[in-house]
Amino acid sequence: MNENVIALDGPAGSGKSTVAREIAEKIGFNYLDTGAFYRALTLYLFRKYESSPNDPSFAEWVKTSEAETALSGAKILCEFSAGNENKILLNGEDVSLAIRTPEITREIKHIANRRIYRDFVNRELHFLAKLHKLIMDGRDIGTEVFPDAKCKFYLTASSKVRADRRFLQLQEQGISADRDEIEREILLRDKSDMEREIAPLYQAKDAFLIDTDILSKNSVISKILEILDR
Ligand code: C5P
Repeated sequence: MNENVIALDGPAGSGKSTVAREIAEKIGFNYLDTGAFYRALTLYLFRKYESSPNDPSFAEWVKTSEAETALSGAKILCEFSAGNENKILLNGEDVSLAIRTPEITREIKHIANRRIYRDFVNRELHFLAKLHKLIMDGRDIGTEVFPDAKCKFYLTASSKVRADRRFLQLQEQGISADRDEIEREILLRDKSDMEREIAPLYQAKDAFLIDTDILSKNSVISKILEILDR
């Protein structure tokens, strides 16, 4: 059993990051957002793609040997901080905000679908787990990356609730958005994460299922802490 890893998987918007961040703080672990690694890698490759103007679509380009060779020039680091508001560094540049654009969110599936890119991210995650105690949120942490994790959780919620939450969050940040469009995007992301051939999103047999539709954030945290305490 890997005592250094707690896995928190689930679909987009199920509340994983908020919950993971707070639990990490309470139990003295670091929080690791594994989606941020896929985002940073997508940003890196997208920039490389944009500098090759004669290439086909990004989806096609990521399959070429040029893209796969470019991979060796990517170094992604997570800078842990108190409160777990971590920074993501791409070759030394803080890309914590740049990786959150709708464009990156849209293109990420082309990276997440390919073994070579998943292996790249997974190597980094294994390296970090040798050095730190980590709560990792993601899609395949309990199923693929750390099947031996100390404890596994699968957080879920209906697409309606997830879209409502995201919409509210954007409103609070003063960003205007179309709520129905958000739900459509969530459903598309669920589909590509759950139906991909490599490392699809599903609940590990030994993961605790937590439906956050009917639970407040604090109830979810208490439930997880209670299970970790057993
Ligand atoms: O967690 P977040 O929504 O930022 O993740 C962005 C995307 O990265 C996901 O939709 C998924 O396609 C991919 N991902 C993944 N495996 C992980 C974490 C994220 O495939 N462990």
